[in-house]
Formats: sequence, C-alpha cells, structure tokens
Amino acid sequence: MISQEMAKLGKKRSIIREIFEYGKIRKAEIGEENVFDFSIGNPSVPAPDCVNAELTKIIAETDSIKLHGYTSAQGDYITRKAIADFINKTENASLDPNLIYMTVGAAAALTICFHAITLPQDEIIVFSPYFAEYKVFIEGANAKFVVSPSDNKTLLPDYEIFKSKINANTKAVVINSPNNPSGVIYKEDVIIKLADILREKQKEYGHPIYIVSDEPYRELVYDGIKVPFLTNYYENSLVCYSFSKVLSLPGERIGYIAVNPKMSDASEMYAAICGAGRSLGFICAPSIFQKLIPNVLGQTSDISVYKENRDILYKALTEYGFRCVHPDGAFYLYIETPEPNSIAFAEKAKKYELLVVPADDFGSSGFARIAYCVTTEQIKKSLPYFKKLAIDYGLTK
Ligand code: PLP
Repeated sequence: MISQEMAKLGKKRSIIREIFEYGKIRKAEIGEENVFDFSIGNPSVPAPDCVNAELTKIIAETDSIKLHGYTSAQGDYITRKAIADFINKTENASLDPNLIYMTVGAAAALTICFHAITLPQDEIIVFSPYFAEYKVFIEGANAKFVVSPSDNKTLLPDYEIFKSKINANTKAVVINSPNNPSGVIYKEDVIIKLADILREKQKEYGHPIYIVSDEPYRELVYDGIKVPFLTNYYENSLVCYSFSKVLSLPGERIGYIAVNPKMSDASEMYAAICGAGRSLGFICAPSIFQKLIPNVLGQTSDISVYKENRDILYKALTEYGFRCVHPDGAFYLYIETPEPNSIAFAEKAKKYELLVVPADDFGSSGFARIAYCVTTEQIKKSLPYFKKLAIDYGLTK
C-alpha cells in the first residue's frame, strides 16, 4: 500500500496548472498569439546577459570535477559569504555566512524551514490570499495550516483577525512581500506592527513565534518602493529567498535560507535547518549556479517590462470598471471579480481567450489573479477583450 495522501496530491493539479494546461491545448487549436495566457508566474523577460556570460566563463575556467561535484551540504562557503556580504551592505543587515543554507529555490527553502521548526500540534499561520503551495508544504511538515484573512480592501493583514489566530500552539507566521497573488508590498509600518504583535504574543505564551519571510519577488518592485529587510525588524526570523524571478532562472532551482543571527538560538536553528535539509534530501544546491551567484548579486532581469505591463493593464482595467489594489511589486494584478463566484468569472473570461486564475487556489474568493509576466504586445492585444468582458458585466459601455 502506498501513501494515499501523496497519491492524491500527485493526481490533483492546482487550478493554476489546470488553466495552464487548458491554455496549451487552446494555443495548439487557435494559435499561440490568440490566447491571452495570464495563468502562470513564469518570468517572461530573459535572464540578464551577465548570467550567460558569467556561466560561460565559469564553465571554461573551472576544473570539471569541481564544477560538477558535490558542494558542502549547506552550499559553498564562498557563495554564502558573498550573499551575506551583499545583503549586509545593501540592507544594513548582519547576516552570517555560517547561518545561510543554499537551496533549490524558495520552495525547498520553505519546506526545510517548516520541517526544521515543527513539533506535533504546532500551527503555522499564513495570510490569505496566499501562494497555494504553502498549504502543501506546511501540512507536509505535519503542522496545522491556519489562514488569517487579509483586509479585503487593502489586502494587507487584518491585525485583529491575526491576533485572534495566535494561540499557544502557534509556531510561525509566513509573510510574502511583494505578494503572490496580490502584488501588495508590506511596507515598514506593516512589518513593525506584525513584529510588535508577535513580540507580545511570544511573551504571553513563553516561546518563540517565528516569521518565515518568503521573498522570491524582493527586487521586483516599481516606483522606488522599499521592501523592508525582515531581520532588521524581528529577531526570530527566517528569510527564504530565490533567484527564480529576479534573474529569470526558475528552472535552475537556486535560492537560500538565511537564519537571523539575532535569534537567541540561531546556531541551534541552523543545525535544525541543516538536519531538515538532510532528512528531505535537499542538500548540495546546483553547483554551477552556486558558483554563478557571487558574480551576479545585485543584477536583475529587465523589470521595466513588468512595470510597463502593470501600468498599461492597471490603467485600462480600472478604466473599464474592474477594481483592484494597485500592485507595487511582483508581476500579478489581483482584481475583484464582478460576480462573487470567481471560478464562474474565470470561465466567462475564457470566452474571450483570457486565462486568469480564480482566487479559490489562493484561499480567498471574489478575486482573480492576472499574471502579467507576458509580452507587452500581448497585454495591449488583450485589452479589447477585457473591455468586452467588462461590458458583459455592465461595468462599462
Ligand atoms: N513563493 C512564492 C510566493 C512563489 O510565487 C513561488 C513561485 O512562484 C515560490 C515561492 C517558489 O519559488 P521557487 O521557484 O524559487 O521554488
């Protein structure tokens, strides 16, 4: 007998994947250019030139055994040191290379953290709307998945609801800013408020409550908005970072966990991170990409394309009568659906070959996500169809 739970997970695709697969079939039927596929957060801008240039150099200049061999389980020291130095310089932080663990992207970073911190009965809180895989990762670590709905108008945490979700079993809270699916950024005031609430609750319950900060979109911010660096605000914090989106390298699987050195049991936490990595088999992140990272820190793919897409789409859609919080980062627009059933809305959008993701996968309802990481040409071409959809709902004439 195999694990029925795992078989169920393997068989059931997320709504995002369902729509993405539907899009592939539709593109084969009517031509790629006639389908407006806003389903998936796959970067549409190529990796910056420096990535391939540096990779070519590394491959040419590194001894083959070293290039392709196992690294230290937690990652090469040179890479971890470069990351710590870079963050300490740019964020005025105090990261320690000996508390950084290289991972295969943010997905592994999160999974490792949840396994490292969870004891039986523990609960981990996420704010909705949330990245759908959190539920899988958290329940996979045998923790209880607890949802704290955000304020529907701002899509920022509702502090009173949040406080009511914290109890003696709360082990951690996940934050994701810039946010997938909403594009919202938690600015300094939000981080300070969350940190204050958690400090108070830690005192009340007499144990640490960690913040796990999921940051694959950290640099994807527009209009010069600053994303606060969490370890500067909250001691019991773990940062899960990924190069997937910022460098357009999602297939290469490279990221890291940084344990806040200000945590009182930081070295014990790091041991648990290393242990969870070992137990899950997530050791020795891809060697070539570990060697690349020190040479490309601070570089990004051309995010001006995403900004242009966001500006065009936000302006047009709000003119047509759709409502949406202005997204300051990531590459998602989260619109209120003009009917409460977001699945029905996404079905209607398909009539115009517009593929959007209903909110149900993100733990909310009455919204739909538009991933605008597509070409600007596709964005412009899709606008008349969004307008027709708005007319169908009586939002505009
Ligand atoms: N967290 C969020 C919010 C994401 O949107 C994604 C990917 O889309 C991930 C984590 C996983 O990222 P990675 O490709 O680095 O595993």
